Amino acid sequence: MARCAVRAAFSGAMDVSRRLEISFRPLDADGDGAARRLYHERICFMAKLTIRDLNVRGKRVFLRVDYNVPLEEKDGQMVITDDTRIKETLPTLKALIEQGGRLILTAHLGRPKGKREPSMSLRPVAERLANLLGRPVAFVDDCIGEKVEKTANALKDGDVLLLENVRYYNEEEKNDPAFAEKLAKVADVYVNDAFGAAHRAHASTEGVARVVAKRGGKCAAGLLMERELKFLGDELEKPARPFVVILGGAKVSDKIKVIDRLLEKADTILIGGAMAYTFQLAHGKPVGKSLVEPDHKGTALAAEEKAKKLGVKFELPTDVVVGKPVDTGKLNKKGKPVMDFVNIHTIKDAIPDDSEGFSIGEETSARYAKIISGAKTILWNGPMGMFEDARFAAGTNAVAQAVADATQKNGAKSIIGGGDSVKALNKAKLGDKVTFMSTGGGASLEFLEGAVLPGVAALSDK
Ligand code: ADP
Ligand code: MG
Repeated sequence: MARCAVRAAFSGAMDVSRRLEISFRPLDADGDGAARRLYHERICFMAKLTIRDLNVRGKRVFLRVDYNVPLEEKDGQMVITDDTRIKETLPTLKALIEQGGRLILTAHLGRPKGKREPSMSLRPVAERLANLLGRPVAFVDDCIGEKVEKTANALKDGDVLLLENVRYYNEEEKNDPAFAEKLAKVADVYVNDAFGAAHRAHASTEGVARVVAKRGGKCAAGLLMERELKFLGDELEKPARPFVVILGGAKVSDKIKVIDRLLEKADTILIGGAMAYTFQLAHGKPVGKSLVEPDHKGTALAAEEKAKKLGVKFELPTDVVVGKPVDTGKLNKKGKPVMDFVNIHTIKDAIPDDSEGFSIGEETSARYAKIISGAKTILWNGPMGMFEDARFAAGTNAVAQAVADATQKNGAKSIIGGGDSVKALNKAKLGDKVTFMSTGGGASLEFLEGAVLPGVAALSDK
């Protein structure tokens, strides 16, 4: 069984044919042990190579990182306003430097759409990286071509080179095979540490790996990628129970695949955010002007039905913070009317026609917090309300506190996936009180859905 657990670390990383095999298992496999065992046996057989398995001394390591950092213009210069993403790659870089690899880093920044957009240059990143690493970082203002090859070939063991924004070429997002070949010219070994870009089959996340593998070279996961796969994959494959899943955010349609998959693993699912109003609507309750998806009433009811069948507790909010939207007469940057909200209060029954729901209320927060306090594994994806506005942040903050407390006081394992959920945790200053916060955003959601991420699939099997 121990072997199985290790292999499951990369359960999201198997190739498509094997994933298909898994998807054929009966969807409504209830508590029936046989079906679950079969599922685990099939899933627990393959792992991806990581940099721990490599020896890259003297080799040119083509390393895809996620340096899509926020930049701001200050006195005509682009300045990095948050270097978290750079810091997160340091363990992988240090490990490869220690091994004596010659590192060639590629990344994208923003959406230059195939043009050399100067405000999206990675040059400032090279400078910051050099400071953080405490060693020089070379920079070439291109990601393919002679200059790149010359500089890469002159690297000594432990040297670091950052290449210019790979999205300056349209071929990157098209995963153009000829472009991948050009990138691969400087790659003896391929390493991917950009989990946040692994759900896209682009040249630098997928194509290059294929080229390197075809030549007999190794393709491995970096340490950040490895952690993501461990927490979003392995830890949730065999969670300590009770396993409580908290799902919120804007839309049911965004999250239905995650709900569907997690219904087969969770003991309890707590629903919040605007998503809850589609459930409310499906139950025939008025939702006023709230964000809903009437086309997904059936989806919501089917999820509840499946929960009942599997014996999963499915909790919906019983009170809601509402506000009445009023036009301020102002327009935002995109030319859309800026709305404000008045008469903000909490209600238990139907949402009035002129009002909109913005968060779970206090009663629901307290009920959810109690359930969370009994959990041994917690997965949270999607805020409980429009937390960006302080008037509607209390529900999300209360749940965040409960998750932090369960982790700190009860030893629960808490895993947070989704870009806005991570933002909410950080805003509540509780980011360091949970077990793991994914860096993946959209990639983490796709991974939780059980999708094969092309950037992971392309890595070598152990
Ligand atoms: P994540 O990025 O964590 O996966 P989502 O993108 O699904 O989360 O959802 C986050 C967004 O949902 C936030 O911007 C939040 O403002 C919005 N949201 C949550 N609840 C509501 C609500 N009741 N009304 C409007 N927007 C909401
Ligand atoms: Mg989001």
